[in-house]
Amino acid sequence: MRSIYEVLRAKRDGQELTRDEIAAFVRGVVAGSIPDYQAAAFLMATVIRGMTTAETAALTEAMRDSGECWDLSDLAPVVDKHSTGGVGDKVTLPLAPLVAAAGGRVAMMSGRGLGHTGGTLDKLAAIPGFRTDLDLARVRKALDTVGVALFQQTDSVAPADRTLYALRDVTATVESLALITASILSKKLASGTHGIVFDVKTGNGAFMKALGDSRALGRSLVDTTRAAGRHASGWITDMSRPLGRAVGNALEAEESIQVLKGQGPGPVREACFLLGADMLRFADPSLPEAEARRRLKQALDSGKAAEVFERAIEFHGGDPRVVADPSRLPRPSQQLPAVAPRAGIVQSIETERMGFLSIEIGCGRRTREDAVDPAAGFLVEKTVGDRVERGEPLAIVCLGSRPLPRPTYVEDVAALFRIGDAPATPPALAVERL
Ligand code: URA
Repeated sequence: MRSIYEVLRAKRDGQELTRDEIAAFVRGVVAGSIPDYQAAAFLMATVIRGMTTAETAALTEAMRDSGECWDLSDLAPVVDKHSTGGVGDKVTLPLAPLVAAAGGRVAMMSGRGLGHTGGTLDKLAAIPGFRTDLDLARVRKALDTVGVALFQQTDSVAPADRTLYALRDVTATVESLALITASILSKKLASGTHGIVFDVKTGNGAFMKALGDSRALGRSLVDTTRAAGRHASGWITDMSRPLGRAVGNALEAEESIQVLKGQGPGPVREACFLLGADMLRFADPSLPEAEARRRLKQALDSGKAAEVFERAIEFHGGDPRVVADPSRLPRPSQQLPAVAPRAGIVQSIETERMGFLSIEIGCGRRTREDAVDPAAGFLVEKTVGDRVERGEPLAIVCLGSRPLPRPTYVEDVAALFRIGDAPATPPALAVERL
C-alpha cells in the first residue's frame, strides 16, 4: 500500500485511491498518527479533484466504521429521511409518526440548525419535556413499541466526522460533494438504517440554490447509499419559499400537529406523502406508489398518525397532551403584522434571508452556545402568486421572550416579499425525482 505522502500526491494528480488507502487515511486521522497538515492536504486535494462513487463510498464506510455501528437488523427494515435543510422544513415531525402509523419503522437521527436553516432537534425540543438523547437500547425500545425513534448523534457515532468536519470548517474544504456526502451518510449509516429517502432542496432558501448543484448532491447521496448496500431514493423539492405557514420551533411543532390531524398547509402534507411513500416502499419494493399513498392517507384519516405521535412524544419524555391541545406549546408573547407597502401579487420571497431574520429573534443560534427561543417565529400569510392589498399582513412576527432586534425589524420582514403586478404561479413542491 502507498504511504500517506504517496496517497496525497496521487489524489493531487487526480488518480483514484483504493478502498484500503482511504480506510487507512481515516484510521490515521482518528488515531492521530496522521497530522492535521496532511489531513488538510487530503481534504483540499479532494475538494479540487473530487472522488469517484467508489471512493466516496469507501470514505463514507471508513468514517461510519470509526465509531459505534448500531445493528438494527432484527427490526428491519428501519427507514430514515434526510433533508438538506430549509426554512419552515418541519417535515420530520409529521412524517415519522405518519409512516409508522402506515406500517413502517422509522429511526431518524437529526441535527440542530445549520446556517439559516432550522434544526429538527430544536423543533422537537419545543415540545415540553421532549428528549432526543437516546442511546441504542432506548432507540431499539422506541422502534419496538412505538415504531418511531427521533434522536441526536451521540459522541460515539462516527467520531471521524467530528475531527474531519472541524478541519474542513477552518481550511475552506466544506464545499465538496464527496466530503458532504461522506459526512452526512457516515452518521446515518452508523445508526443502522436500512433505507434513506433524500429530500434535496433547491431554490433561494436552500444551500444548493441552482438545480444542477442540487441534482449533483442528490445523485451523490443516493448513489453512495446504494453503494453501501442500503435502499435509497430521493426528490428535489422546492425551497424558493418557506415550506408551509409556520417558521420557528413551537409554531412548526403546532403546524406538524395540524398536518397529523388532516389539516395544515398543502405543501407540508404533499412532502409527507412524497417522501413517506418511498419509505414504505423500501419495506416492500413491489408496493405500487399509489397504494403506499393510500395507506398514508388512511393513517391520517383514521387518526392513527396523530395517535402514534402522542405515543412517540410520551416515549421521548414529552407532554403528549400537546397533540389534543397545542396551546400547551410555548406561545408568543407578542404578534406583530408585517404589512404590504403596496397592493399587488407576491412575485418572490427572499427565503434564505427570512431564515437569517428568524435567527435574530431566537429561532436558531449564531454561536454553538446560544439558546433558542421556542416561541419565536413567523406565520407566513402570503406566498408566491397570492394577491395582497396595501396594509394587509404578509407575515406575522411572533416574539417569544426577546425584544425586537431593532425598530425597523418588522419592515425588514415585510421587505422579504417582492410585490409586483404580473401574475405569478406558486412553484410546485416536487421539482424532480432523483
Ligand atoms: N451536514 C453534514 O452533516 N455534513 C456536511 O458536510 C454538510 C452538511
